Amino acid sequence: MAIDERVLIAGAGPVGLVAAANLVRGGVPVTVLEAGADLSTESRASTFHPPTLDMLDQLGAARALIAQGLIAPRFQYRTKQDGVLGQFDFAAIADLTRHPYRVQCEQSKLTRILHQQLRGTAQYELQFDAEVREVTQRGTGVEVAIARKGKTERRSGRWLIGADGARSDVRRALGIEFPGFTWQERFLVVSTPFDFRTVIPDLDAVSYVTDPERWHFLLQIPGLCRVMFPIRPEETDELALSGEFAQSLLAAVIPGISNYEVAHATLYKVHQRVAKTFQRGRVFLAGDAAHINNPLGGMGMNGGIHDAINLTSRLIEVWRGTKPEAELERYDRQRRAVTLEYIEQQSIQNKRNLESDGAEFGRRLKEIAADKTRTHDYLLRVSMIASLRRAQELG
Ligand SMILES: Cc1cc2nc3c(=O)[nH]c(=O)nc-3n(C[C@H](O)[C@H](O)[C@H](O)COP(=O)(O)OP(=O)(O)OC[C@H]3O[C@@H](n4cnc5c(N)ncnc54)[C@H](O)[C@@H]3O)c2cc1C
Repeated sequence: MAIDERVLIAGAGPVGLVAAANLVRGGVPVTVLEAGADLSTESRASTFHPPTLDMLDQLGAARALIAQGLIAPRFQYRTKQDGVLGQFDFAAIADLTRHPYRVQCEQSKLTRILHQQLRGTAQYELQFDAEVREVTQRGTGVEVAIARKGKTERRSGRWLIGADGARSDVRRALGIEFPGFTWQERFLVVSTPFDFRTVIPDLDAVSYVTDPERWHFLLQIPGLCRVMFPIRPEETDELALSGEFAQSLLAAVIPGISNYEVAHATLYKVHQRVAKTFQRGRVFLAGDAAHINNPLGGMGMNGGIHDAINLTSRLIEVWRGTKPEAELERYDRQRRAVTLEYIEQQSIQNKRNLESDGAEFGRRLKEIAADKTRTHDYLLRVSMIASLRRAQELG
């Protein structure tokens, strides 16, 4: 089989479609193979960090995302008893980003914006009902076997990006290990149109509440507040997803209020895992296929988008012949290291902070807030700018 002169991407999630958009922008033809019959409507990530917005801006997608989302210039940590423990404003890093705020918007909005933009572009092809199963590497390309409506089809390309999520078939086909661990507790996300700002006047759109018993976060998106709680191992899925249970959890957020309208309740198993390598020959892993972490701090999808931009910017150079193939090795070197050093560590630390009584954490936050340099450094870390700088340093 002759190799098709294009890049194959498994998965049309946010990471696969950002990779496609950057490649097409660089003049590289792509075929995205998506197992589902349509783009996912699942509401998982809702936070876009400042450097991610800068990247999406380069792809011409930031404006539409911002228009459909909510701008959150500040975020805060709280305790139920004492209110605000610490509050930070991204204005302090406005010298380093064109978007000194988080945008709160569901990831399913981004995939639709990108797909809409790319449709009709000669270099873009997206196939639904196309599940990548087998991967075979040839001298100058990769061939994949696709399961489509009970039949097997084959496609080839110069490179393959496995952006097919946490259960990645591409990662499995290559036999790449995915070590790490699964948290004992599951996480329940309950969405309600109730506006908590009517009863907590100083509540920011992004708010994390420490509590050793039942920490939670309150994240505002247009028209809804998403509240996430840990669910203990002894609490069954059936109980966790029952209407009364969601009511009892929400009732504990603000005493005296009950009978919330619940728009959605979704339960997630949560893991911390990083693939042993992000590259094997002509195949790369990106996004959840390469790394997963708990959602505290909103770094999974953002980190995946950073992977996609890092990788595809190099693929464009190699495609054009302006850089040698060896350039591609820098992707694994940079992105895997910052995933381990930064995304995994920070998301675990965020969970530890929230499940504490808030006393020591609150002291640390006050010290940081009282010092301009430390606030600046802290915001660089929280916004993930520090991780991108670190990746650059790794060469
Ligand atoms: C409750 C919750 C909240 C979160 N909040 C945030 C947040 O605020 N910010 C943040 O940065 N991250 C957050 N995350 C993490 C974020 O949702 C993921 O990191 C993100 O979805 C990863 O994107 P992806 O494109 O890599 O994978 P996915 O979104 O999982 O997309 C993978 C795609 O590949 C397709 N696919 C699967 N197998 C195949 C195959 N064999 N062949 C072809 N296609 C295939 C799937 O159908 C899917 O469309 C959150 C996660 C959860 C659970």
